[in-house]
This record gives sequence, C-alpha cells and structure tokens, in this order.
Amino acid sequence: MELNEEELLEAIRRVLSGAGPEVRVGVGDDAAVLAPTGGELVVTTDALVEDVHFRREPAGARDLGYKAIVVSVSDIAAMGGSPRSAVCALILPADIEAAWVMELFGGMREACDEYALWLVGGDLARGREVSIAVTVTGEVAPGTAVLRSGARPGDHVVLTGEVGGSAAGLRLTHVRTMPSAAQLALVRRHLRPTARVGEGRVLGRHGATAMIDVSDGLALDLFRLGRASDVGAHLSIDDVPVADGATLDDALGGGEDYELLATLPGAEAVGAARLELKESFGVTLTTIGRIVEGSGLRAIDADGTARPLEPTGWNHFR
Ligand SMILES: [Mg+2]
Repeated sequence: MELNEEELLEAIRRVLSGAGPEVRVGVGDDAAVLAPTGGELVVTTDALVEDVHFRREPAGARDLGYKAIVVSVSDIAAMGGSPRSAVCALILPADIEAAWVMELFGGMREACDEYALWLVGGDLARGREVSIAVTVTGEVAPGTAVLRSGARPGDHVVLTGEVGGSAAGLRLTHVRTMPSAAQLALVRRHLRPTARVGEGRVLGRHGATAMIDVSDGLALDLFRLGRASDVGAHLSIDDVPVADGATLDDALGGGEDYELLATLPGAEAVGAARLELKESFGVTLTTIGRIVEGSGLRAIDADGTARPLEPTGWNHFR
C-alpha cells in the first residue's frame, strides 16, 4: 500500500465526510451515534469476498463499492423499510493499491448519496484477499415491516421490473469483443443494480403479505418465501418478465436482480400497487403466480399443465 494506515483512514474520512440529521456522531470516533426518529430499526449485513463474489480488477473498484452498499439497501427495501446508515469492515491484502481503495469508497459514497443513507463508520484490517462486509440500518413505521412469512393461499405473486438481466450481464463481462448498447445495459445491471426502496414501501402500503428481494434467483427466493410462510406457490412460466437478452434460465436461476418479489391479497391490491409503481417510479409490476396450500413450487405452462419446479439458484455453499 502506498499510503500508511493513518493516511488512508484520513483520506477515507474525507470521501465520507458529511452526515444527515439523524447522525449525531459519524466517522472518526470509537462508534457512531445515531438519533432514532420514531420508527423501528431494521438491520442487515452482507459480506462480499474476493474470488467468491467478485474478481479484483483494476477498473472495477468503484462499481464494487457501489454494489456492496446496494445489495444491503435492497434487503432493507424488501422489509418495506428506508435505509438510514451503513458501516463497513474492509479486509485488505498488503499488495492493494491505495487508489483502488479510494475508488471503492468513492463507489460506496455514490450509492449512499443515491439512496440517501450515511456511511457512519468502518474498520480496516489486513488479510489475504479483499473482503467487504457492509451493515446497513433502516427504519420502518412501528409494526409495518413486511416479512417473508405472511403469504396466504390465494395471494397473488407479483414481481417488480424484469429478471435475468444481471446473469446475462455477468456472462457478457467475460466477452472481449466490443459490446452493443443493449449488451452494455445488461452489464450495467450486473455491476450497478438498483435497490427498489420506494417500490418496497408502496407494496407494503398496498397490503403486501410477504416480500423478499431477488438476490439468489427468482425460483429459489420464491421457494424461500413459501417455506417461511408455510405455503406453496404456482409460478406461471410464460408470465415471468425476462429481461431483453436474458434466457428463462437466467430469469429463474440467475439471481442478483434485486427486484422485489411480493404477495398481495387480491386483484384489487395488485391493480392499485401496479398503478402507483408505474406513476411514481416508471416500474412495472407483473403478476407471475399464486400462493397455494401445501409446500414447494410448481411451474404452470401456458396450457395450464403443472409440474414440479426445482428451486435452483445461487447456493452459497454449493
Ligand atoms: Mg434478501
């Protein structure tokens, strides 16, 4: 490292300076001090490990920092909450370039600005590979957090946006030819995902009975929601909104799309939520299935044939 630890911390402090009204004490003291504003606290943490979740590339630090924040913000969104603050523990090998680390924090700052939260603390330690652990706090009005466990038979299964784009984009990052504009858009979906924060709040307000973000693949995340709710789900295969340039496999098993998968209690709630999401965010809401009694997933084809659907997706311990 070109800078020593103290110099690096000082440089990081400058990148992260500034704080919102809820932050009484931010970066630089032994701990941050936050002033709660009356809601319930929602907390989530996520670790990104070099060569497991990402490859360290000279030009990739900014996108990586951005994504490290967004994936946790997406978990807050999936509870119907609003993000407030983040802390980050960073493990760095001795051969790391200081410029790479500054870009990483630059990307984190960018995501924090985008989603109106504040990075209020962090820690640096030495290790064999880069590892980025981000904890994000958020807030929901008391009693309004949307859990995975509230889906009931008859509920409509809905999905924001489109899925499969991130997996298709990941494939394209390995292609060395000049990408087209459409391909670049897919790569961007992989490198710079969007967390559906406002959308999650809207779905909560319209009575979402359960919600999860699509981080590990639509089928696996729907399976998890069903398991937590002690119900089964029918997935209408032809209704799944597949991103342009992605395959059905990408859509069902790719993951890292960070769209919201929710259950709503009836067609009226679906219609109202769909309208508001379109008007407020320009985001589509697609009905892709139904919650049923029992357990597990069944794929429903266009002609109504049902068959068991394996909850494939990204399994971290595979
Ligand atoms: Mg999640």
